[in-house]
Amino acid sequence: MPTALITGIAGQDGSYMAELLLSKGYRVLGIDRYSSAVTYENLQHIQDEITLLEGDLLDQGSLVAILERYSPDEIYNFAALSFPAGSWSHPVVTGDITALGVTRLLEAIRLVRPEARFYQASSSEMFGKAREVPQTVQTPLYPRNPYGVAKVYGHWITIAYREMYAMFACSGILYNHESPRRGLQYVPRKISHGAARIKLGLTDELRLGNLDARRDWGYAGDYAEAIWLMLQQDQPYDYVVCTGETHSVREFCEAAFRHVGLDYLDYVIQDERFYRPAEDDLLVGDPRRAQEKLGWKPRVSFEELVEMMVDADLKQIGKETPR
Ligand code: GDP
Repeated sequence: MPTALITGIAGQDGSYMAELLLSKGYRVLGIDRYSSAVTYENLQHIQDEITLLEGDLLDQGSLVAILERYSPDEIYNFAALSFPAGSWSHPVVTGDITALGVTRLLEAIRLVRPEARFYQASSSEMFGKAREVPQTVQTPLYPRNPYGVAKVYGHWITIAYREMYAMFACSGILYNHESPRRGLQYVPRKISHGAARIKLGLTDELRLGNLDARRDWGYAGDYAEAIWLMLQQDQPYDYVVCTGETHSVREFCEAAFRHVGLDYLDYVIQDERFYRPAEDDLLVGDPRRAQEKLGWKPRVSFEELVEMMVDADLKQIGKETPR
């Protein structure tokens, strides 16, 4: 039975990765930062099947100790301070965890378990002010916030370790990926949650920023499959993972409200507070390399994703609200 170690296991991506690896017969170990406030909501359904360990990307010793004790075969690094727009309020700790944390983990692997396969969660935020459309792994990087800058460091240090030490280390440049487990600060979940609350009569408006902003939104569960495939190849390489399609925030609203039989124009209010001072340019990835080399294709369409998120919020909010 192979052993996988997942950092950031309590987050959206970590929890989908854990599910996928369990279904493939792995022993799954997860690291999450110690915090008395963490609820592990995303892991409740699999908590008896995984081993949760306390570790921290700020603490090299904790990483070394875990690798020495468990000798994982595959290591997936999702741990990060992951809200790009919010990273302006904590730029230094973003660098410490999201950038230097990758080196702490790679160093621990090099010293203790150099033959392990390593996945680094890189981000389309690295393209920021996009130098070309669509973006590939060759596109020059131009991040526009501390999160994006930290992810650029994580991406390049992964490549540097691969080239210097011949480690099996891959960087996956993932475009926005969503699910019912996405945090409420991200616009897709804010919309699905808002539409569900309105449908259930709990509020009558949803305040958003720029409705014309566009993103390539995929389903996080599909992306876990692409990530796993990267570590099963003969050679380590970097991949862009995306759907290749973009939609606007407005289209997301239309689809979400339509699904509950409402018209978004009656409820969505544009509010200056939610506008971004510096928007990314049009981020559109080129999914061909992942499709050709990994044989990967997203299964869930944009409409299915929106509906899945709204349905999950209707169910969750319905449970919490006594009638
Ligand atoms: P990210 O910025 O790509 O990491 O993801 P978000 O989901 O936070 O934002 C995606 C896009 O939605 C951005 O271009 C935002 O400007 C736009 N947007 C419009 N209204 C909102 C809002 O109320 N909240 C957030 N988070 N984004 C919004």
